[in-house]
Amino acid sequence: MRAAAPSYYPLFRCIAGACRHTCCANWEVDIDPETYDKYMNMSGAFAERIRSSIVVEDDGSSTGEAHFVLKPDGRCPMLRDDGLCDLILACGEEALCRVCDEHPRFFNYRSDVIECGIGLSCEAAIPLILGWDKGFGMIDVPLPGGSDLDPDDVMEEEPDELETEVYEARDNAIRTASDRSAALSERVRMLGGSLWDSGRRLEVLKKLESLSQEWVSIYSRIDVAADPFTVLDDPQYSLQFENMLVYFIFRYPWEGARLACELLLMVADCVIANPSVDLFDIVREFSSNVEYSDCNIDDIQSFL
Ligand code: SF4
Repeated sequence: MRAAAPSYYPLFRCIAGACRHTCCANWEVDIDPETYDKYMNMSGAFAERIRSSIVVEDDGSSTGEAHFVLKPDGRCPMLRDDGLCDLILACGEEALCRVCDEHPRFFNYRSDVIECGIGLSCEAAIPLILGWDKGFGMIDVPLPGGSDLDPDDVMEEEPDELETEVYEARDNAIRTASDRSAALSERVRMLGGSLWDSGRRLEVLKKLESLSQEWVSIYSRIDVAADPFTVLDDPQYSLQFENMLVYFIFRYPWEGARLACELLLMVADCVIANPSVDLFDIVREFSSNVEYSDCNIDDIQSFL
């Protein structure tokens, strides 16, 4: 089995203490069973601190679901005021649970390759993905060590007909999205087909789970009479929106280009409605609230 990723993937670095919107707050960090066992078997004062920061909830499974108990301000109990992680400082990066080790990376498992990406919920990933000006391409990367499946245990298989068709369609959509012989607004219309209007997108956003009040404020300002396509062709934004479209198409191969176009237009609706908010801040809020919730993506898909 091999792994492949967009060309920018190896350039990603977490900026840790310099991060203004750390991913170590406001999200419950689930601890995978392997790491949980490791924490239970560690000795010393710090191990006691780790164990006293964990709760195991009954999720119907034999082991339950373990996670760190967030502090009242929503921060992980291992996160220091300077933005560094006490767990890494005391025990090294290898002591991190899988979620912390992987974030903001995501993995799509195909029959013959693991596709790796980094997500737009991370403020260090956003400029890398959206500012990429070398064209979209894939490169081979090392197999992800802590991903859901151990790559050594994954048998490489010939993709079946459906998988082949899905990924061919995905790759064609990426080529269309990247073809600058047409304006980006035209490419989106071509790929998306019969797209919702801004009013329908706002209705859908209101139905989704939201994690932050900042995100609610951003989408609540959407003016349903505004035209989100104008922002796609604005030279100030066109590279970022093109890269965003390619990212959504790449990340959601099975959901298809229509979903990617609706996600893109949700961001465009928000950009027009929030001229004083930085594009990267809107994208980060969108991705953290909408994209990083499986149920939200499933819900949007079910409305299409
Ligand atoms: S959001 Fe990104 S840069 Fe910030 S702490 Fe998390 S991984 Fe690091």
